[in-house]
Amino acid sequence: MADDEQDSKEYRWETGYEKTWEAIKEDEDGLVEGLVAEFAQKAARKAVVARRGPVRLGMMRHVLVAVDCSEAMNSQDLKPSRFLCTLKLLEKFIEEYFDQNPLSQLGLVLMKNKRAEKLTELSGNVRKHIKSLQGLTDMALSGEPSLQNTLEFAGRVLKPLPGHASRELLVLFASLTTCDPGDITATIQSLKTEGIRCSVIGLAAEVRICKKLCQDTGGEYGVVLDDVHYRSLLLEYTSPPPRARALDAGLVKMGFPHSAPPVNQTDPGANADPPITVCMCHLEDGEGVGGEGHLCPQCRSKYCSLPAQCRTCGLTLASAPHLARSYHHLFPVEPYEELANEGQAQYCFACLRNFTDLDKQVYRCTRCHEFYCWECESVVSTTLHVCPGCSSRPHLYQRLPDAS
Ligand SMILES: [Zn+2]
Ligand SMILES: [Zn+2]
Ligand SMILES: [Zn+2]
Ligand SMILES: [Zn+2]
Repeated sequence: MADDEQDSKEYRWETGYEKTWEAIKEDEDGLVEGLVAEFAQKAARKAVVARRGPVRLGMMRHVLVAVDCSEAMNSQDLKPSRFLCTLKLLEKFIEEYFDQNPLSQLGLVLMKNKRAEKLTELSGNVRKHIKSLQGLTDMALSGEPSLQNTLEFAGRVLKPLPGHASRELLVLFASLTTCDPGDITATIQSLKTEGIRCSVIGLAAEVRICKKLCQDTGGEYGVVLDDVHYRSLLLEYTSPPPRARALDAGLVKMGFPHSAPPVNQTDPGANADPPITVCMCHLEDGEGVGGEGHLCPQCRSKYCSLPAQCRTCGLTLASAPHLARSYHHLFPVEPYEELANEGQAQYCFACLRNFTDLDKQVYRCTRCHEFYCWECESVVSTTLHVCPGCSSRPHLYQRLPDAS
């Protein structure tokens, strides 16, 4: 019954005038506390999708994000406008992307006046991407975008990259038309044979060519309903995709640079004037002379931030915590069982809070069988990525894949 009612009013304007205050009902004591707690719990609970078995993931990613800068981005169905909303969400996306994929790279492309224009190079420099995005707010939006030119551009940038990396294009597409110089199906075909994964987030409606592009290249296609949905579509894209068959699995040579340059201990006078060093990633800006940095173990060129790819010798530079941060994708926490609170447990195993009548649900780990409150459940599944109960039991914590 309840489901039927939900389906029949798909849009807000179809439901007519909603008396939202009637949804709030008092309990026997005349309090609304229980109901408010239930609302909060429902809002916090995200549907956790269980990943089936150990899957190979594309952990090293090279993602190009193409932003539509056509007239259609002026529309105000997202607040304050589609374009400003996109910029705001993209900033969040970039931070989250580098947090989840510390070994990956990202580049930004603008689709304006039937051309694809590079905004930032493929790099792992978070500050640079965000700074360039923030400079876009006053840009005039006019003309039509060209999907084909964007695809061609992505092909040119991504094709020379090594085959062990997952190469992806994400298009944020608001326009319903694309103005192309040639046959777009040929371009899609060439991307498909190269194994470049293209995904599109549509801001207006489903467009057939976008759907075909995503289906053919193994990407995902989503159309946003509102800004909250837009945000969740973008953030979904931050977790590494299952590895496509076309990619080869290779061993990548990596360097782990030391933070401080070697200091001359025997002669204190030599320390007064440290050698003048120039940061390689800030070379063209004329900044980054002197100061602390990380030295490439192979050619000793200096970088102010990690991870980076050495510009001189091509070595991938990372630090061990970067590798550790990618680890949880390979061994994700299994989602907890959601049970109605019938007094199975006195208190939450993680935060030791006593369960009260306000807790409508309790969560149980299927491995260690401990009970958790809804707040701890969301922290474990979104941030911690380790079950506190399992991690205190060594035989459960060694999460070896099943032999069967
Ligand atoms: Zn630098
Ligand atoms: Zn080097
Ligand atoms: Zn708890
Ligand atoms: Zn557990």
